[in-house]
Amino acid sequence: MHSASTSTPELTEKCAVFGVYSRSNEAARTAYYGLWALQHRGQESSGIATSDGHKIHVHSDHGLVANVYRNEDLDKLPGNIAIGHNRYSTSGGADAVHNQPFVTRSNDFAFAHNGNLPDYKKLETFLKSKGILTNKLNDSSMMARAIAWFMEEGSNIEQAVIKAYPLFEGVFSSVAMSKNKLVAFRDTCGIRPLSIGKLSNGYVVASETCALDTVGAVFVRDVEPGELVVIDETGITSHQIVEGRQKLDIFEFVYFARPDSVLLGQSVHKVRENFGRALAKEFAVEADVVIPVPDSSIPAALGYAQASGIPFDMGLIKNRYINRTFIQPSAELRRRDVQMKLNPVIDCLKDKRVVLVDDSIVRGTTMRQVVKMIRQAGARELHILISCPPVKFPDFYGINTPDQAELVSAQMNVEEVREYLDADSLKFLSKEGMVAATGLGADNFSMSCFDGVYPVDIGAQAKTVIYPKVEDQHYSAERGRPRLQLDTPAYNQPAPAKSFAS
Ligand code: AMP
Repeated sequence: MHSASTSTPELTEKCAVFGVYSRSNEAARTAYYGLWALQHRGQESSGIATSDGHKIHVHSDHGLVANVYRNEDLDKLPGNIAIGHNRYSTSGGADAVHNQPFVTRSNDFAFAHNGNLPDYKKLETFLKSKGILTNKLNDSSMMARAIAWFMEEGSNIEQAVIKAYPLFEGVFSSVAMSKNKLVAFRDTCGIRPLSIGKLSNGYVVASETCALDTVGAVFVRDVEPGELVVIDETGITSHQIVEGRQKLDIFEFVYFARPDSVLLGQSVHKVRENFGRALAKEFAVEADVVIPVPDSSIPAALGYAQASGIPFDMGLIKNRYINRTFIQPSAELRRRDVQMKLNPVIDCLKDKRVVLVDDSIVRGTTMRQVVKMIRQAGARELHILISCPPVKFPDFYGINTPDQAELVSAQMNVEEVREYLDADSLKFLSKEGMVAATGLGADNFSMSCFDGVYPVDIGAQAKTVIYPKVEDQHYSAERGRPRLQLDTPAYNQPAPAKSFAS
């Protein structure tokens, strides 16, 4: 979601949603365990709303799932229906007004959203025409207000979602509930994941299948793009609101999803291993050891080691009690964070020719620090392999990279990034190699952060995206090699490189 009070998104979020409809009074606890499994998708705040058939109860707070709920908080959330949300943001984060789920003042409806509406003009105009003040609402709360408005007019929850749906221009994998129904629905392209699972006494819906496993649910199927699923005492009913065309954000495979989740039928761990194998096919490197930047790139590093025959080792150790680096708002804090998060194992690195594998380079802050660390540990050579192509385009679909000026690969070509990072070589997996590694066709994916093609309309934001004059197809750079295409700036605007200066 993002804040509606400014024209540029200041709060852009990738989040987790979870919903449960069961025959037991323990829905809150099921949601709690589900949200625990989905902690990686958002660490800013967490919330659960439940219904006991008479009243909707809610508890939410700033912080991790482990800190937000005490036993007595869960005891105050009775009922057999629950929805839950973990929120992720980088700025303005502590403002409790953004905590989800939203519950309407009339206490009839609760709503939680994973995704982002890049352009909410139509929705805002609708709400204003109904006399609803929108200046304090963000995109998610506007969605909730629109559905609630149709419910106040007499529609039941599924009719209200169907009526409000055309107002939602953007990306959403959402769960919502009335006092006696749970609903889940997805945008036309299904950019963010959402899966259904069966419990012995009901159903759950979750952003990722890893949460189904945690609560003992068996995977049934995904909520389809453009589909609304209603779960109540009669079971599951489906409404295909609009025709969908699956365009899952491929970045879910690259970085976001947990490796034990299954997306579009494919194991995330296996796909990441395949990314590593594909890297080995595209780039042979003479080296002594393959080191992952833990945790997210471990499967890709394993795949590379298996395919290349170069031994794998854990040359960097991650402190498991530090949150994801990205969450810190300023570059300075992010820099310090990397040192708190990662520490080198000197014996694995000293005098070695190191292949360092990471899942992605976004701003470049993390990798720059990691390179320094590995050089200080005495590595003889340092070759960086990235298991996706350069991230050149901003994201408007809820993954928190909305500012193109901050993306190092939008400002520099591969050779310049290599130099900036001080690596001996830098290689990015090709787009074709990445897609092939998923075992699925390119048609199934949104790859907007790599190619600038936005399958869900981004409205006025489109004017802010800068496209290179000549597409830079180079995925590889090596120290000492003659520069290719380097005399012409890759982009048609001067690089505001200061955001990357150390
Ligand atoms: P940086 O290049 O310093 O901006 O950080 C990139 C690292 O952060 C990658 O190696 C990923 O592990 C992780 N990452 C990539 N995209 C995101 C994101 N949208 N939110 C949080 N972490 C991310």
